[in-house]
Amino acid sequence: MSSVSPIQIPSRLPLLLTHEGVLLPGSTMRTSVDSARNLQLVRSRLLKGTSLQSTILGVIPNTPDPASDAQDLPPLHRIGTAALAVQVVGSNWPKPHYTLLITGLCRFQIVQVLKEKPYPIAEVEQLDRLEEFPSTCKMREELGELSEQFYKYAVQILDAVSLEERFKMTIPLLVRQIEGLKLLQKTRKPKQDDDKRVIAIRPIRRITHISGTLEDEDEDEDNDDIVMLEKKIRTSSMPEQAHKVCVKEIKRLKKMPQSMPEYALTRNYLELMVELPWNKSTTDRLDIRAARILLDNDHYAMEKLKKRVLEYLAVRQLKNNLKGPILCFVGPPGVGKTSVGRSVAKTLGREFHRIALGGVCDQSDIRGHRRTYVGSMPGRIINGLKTVGVNNPVFLLDEVDKLGKSLQGDPAAALLEVLDPEQNHNFTDHYLNVAFDLSQVLFIATANTTATIPAALLDRMEIIQVPGYTQEEKIEIAHRHLIPKQLEQHGLTPQQIQIPQVTTLDIITRYTREAGVRSLDRKLGAICRAVAVKVAEGQHKEAKLDRSDVTEREGCREHILEDEKPESISDTTDLALPPEMPILIDFHALKDILGPPMYEMEVSQRLSQPGVAIGLAWTPLGGEIMFVEASRMDGEGQLTLTGQLGDVMKESAHLAISWLRSNAKKYQLTNAFGSFDLLDNTDIHLHFPAGAVTKDGPSAGVTIVTCLASLFSGRLVRSDVAMTGEITLRGLVLPVGGIKDKVLAAHRAGLKQVIIPRRNEKDLEGIPGNVRQDLSFVTASCLDEVLNAAFDGGFTVKTRPGLLNSKL
Ligand code: ADP
Repeated sequence: MSSVSPIQIPSRLPLLLTHEGVLLPGSTMRTSVDSARNLQLVRSRLLKGTSLQSTILGVIPNTPDPASDAQDLPPLHRIGTAALAVQVVGSNWPKPHYTLLITGLCRFQIVQVLKEKPYPIAEVEQLDRLEEFPSTCKMREELGELSEQFYKYAVQILDAVSLEERFKMTIPLLVRQIEGLKLLQKTRKPKQDDDKRVIAIRPIRRITHISGTLEDEDEDEDNDDIVMLEKKIRTSSMPEQAHKVCVKEIKRLKKMPQSMPEYALTRNYLELMVELPWNKSTTDRLDIRAARILLDNDHYAMEKLKKRVLEYLAVRQLKNNLKGPILCFVGPPGVGKTSVGRSVAKTLGREFHRIALGGVCDQSDIRGHRRTYVGSMPGRIINGLKTVGVNNPVFLLDEVDKLGKSLQGDPAAALLEVLDPEQNHNFTDHYLNVAFDLSQVLFIATANTTATIPAALLDRMEIIQVPGYTQEEKIEIAHRHLIPKQLEQHGLTPQQIQIPQVTTLDIITRYTREAGVRSLDRKLGAICRAVAVKVAEGQHKEAKLDRSDVTEREGCREHILEDEKPESISDTTDLALPPEMPILIDFHALKDILGPPMYEMEVSQRLSQPGVAIGLAWTPLGGEIMFVEASRMDGEGQLTLTGQLGDVMKESAHLAISWLRSNAKKYQLTNAFGSFDLLDNTDIHLHFPAGAVTKDGPSAGVTIVTCLASLFSGRLVRSDVAMTGEITLRGLVLPVGGIKDKVLAAHRAGLKQVIIPRRNEKDLEGIPGNVRQDLSFVTASCLDEVLNAAFDGGFTVKTRPGLLNSKL
């Protein structure tokens, strides 16, 4: 370094508090960053953007203190060293940790701390000029090393702003240091090697290995690996651009000492590059007829979805490319979306990989981290390709509706690039930093609702709704698919366990409340586990009783019987056992294994008072019945609403009250004081139980009106009626969405009648025949009609009750 023009440091510096040594101007030091404060500083000052930014830091020695991670800023040393971060290495796992290589520039003095959080920033005054050091630079470096042991001295040296004072302090230390170095030199036998680092490391390695040959073997192995890697790069079929990068990187790698953190980083990178399936693909074998059979074999019902998937496949086959919208299956959990995706891969003979997007809020999750520090890695797409080992898998992008957003960029934007056929043949992961062709990948997305899918993504997708299942469908799915799968997983056979359809129905109605079959599957799993234990216990017992007998018996099975009849598992005590009797799962056994039923019919109980009505709500998890409760009390006309509501629900409640107030006379509705002014001296409280689910949407309008009409008339709402519909101020009933899911929910809950808006009549066509048979539907275009259907004998006072009921 020759003389440099004086550099002025900024008047405000972010402060890095180090406790591992004192950085002096002109010296270089490694410091590990693990306190929350320093981590924040590194992240926001050094790691933002693509490369290390040339931020000048204020490095302040901080006496080692066990409570250094505490929230409060410790008292700061007044003088510090402005420094440049030369290198940042680190990882995010198992917890964030970085090591900084910093070079001291000049002293400064803190004038005032401007900000303490998330990391301190201070106004500073520069104390010495940068051009002073070059001549004494080397000495200072030595001093820097020394300073680790002589922390106290080093701080004093740092504080010594005048040169004279500084020399006085440092000369005795330098003398000691030089003596120490001489001693050290005597013990070393330096090799003729120009890389100092290697000299420094080797003697230590030698000592750690008792046999001197071990170290050489290690090195040879590493060298072999590098040769292998180089060979793989040469023979790889990667595109030219990627090949060039690899050749460059391996050249760098060969020159790097292995102890350098970057060595491992570069090697990992190259290993990934040679492993990626640049040109490796499976051959599609698409036979639409076979595909149809496979889809039918794997999935019961879901005709619409299967049909659409077949069409999609047929078109792709004819066009022979994958351009076109991405299929997106939208429906409640457990309705088979993932499973259909898997079948698509199977029919095409392609590899399948699921990428869970729920909660992903950082675009580097999709597109990878840049290779600026050790913890960086490729994104999920490239990782997925590495896992499947071919470039044309089926990627299931699960839960695209649950993508988050954060300061780290919008993952939806990154995903757009992945899905766009115009761009994705050139997809560049930040980690790879060379383009990878994704155009052969078949993407399928799933979501619970379209409402939260980012609009730009939604635009690229073709939505296929997958509604929930009816009870009958669930029973069929359970017996055709879920039970056989569970038996196989638990090593059971139909000769050992028998689950009759009534039991499945009991599980569906009394132990689960869901649109899909996920809980049902889990409960069946629990039953199989319990039976497996019994069977295994039995085998064990039998084996003990009579070994020779057991070996003769086919499969060593044991079955439990009482009075010659199959019995439930709860009664299976120590009994004699003929081999062919399966364990029968009846309701007693269910209670024994799963505990008491979780959902008993509670509907009629809850509707035994005026002021309660059943609405139908749509949630991303499927349709649900929803009780609306109202009560009134003395007050000043206030309306209170509770139970996780959206704004629209509040509006619906106000509309309902206004409509009832304006129609109070017509219906002879009065408050507790006999007044038609319903809010006169009266407060109303409306509650929507099942507090965890947000109930937004206008469709509760008719339910609120009915519930309040019941409250003010003192009449009970029919306990077998559920309803849905938006209302207007003038009492009209407007159409709403999700009719099929809502009707299925009413059916699941055992209700008999459903009131829907007249303009939703067409939606009833999509409802399975058996559900339609069990329910009667009332279509209403105004609130009069709703109320007449909701109350036994109609609601309209002194008019013609029931006239407007229109049964389908
Ligand atoms: P989703 O992706 O919609 O949440 P899954 O595909 O994970 O649902 O389905 C859950 C389980 O239910 C899987 O084991 C799946 O095979 C099974 N399943 C769902 N629907 C059907 C169906 N119609 N026929 C057969 N099995 C089904």
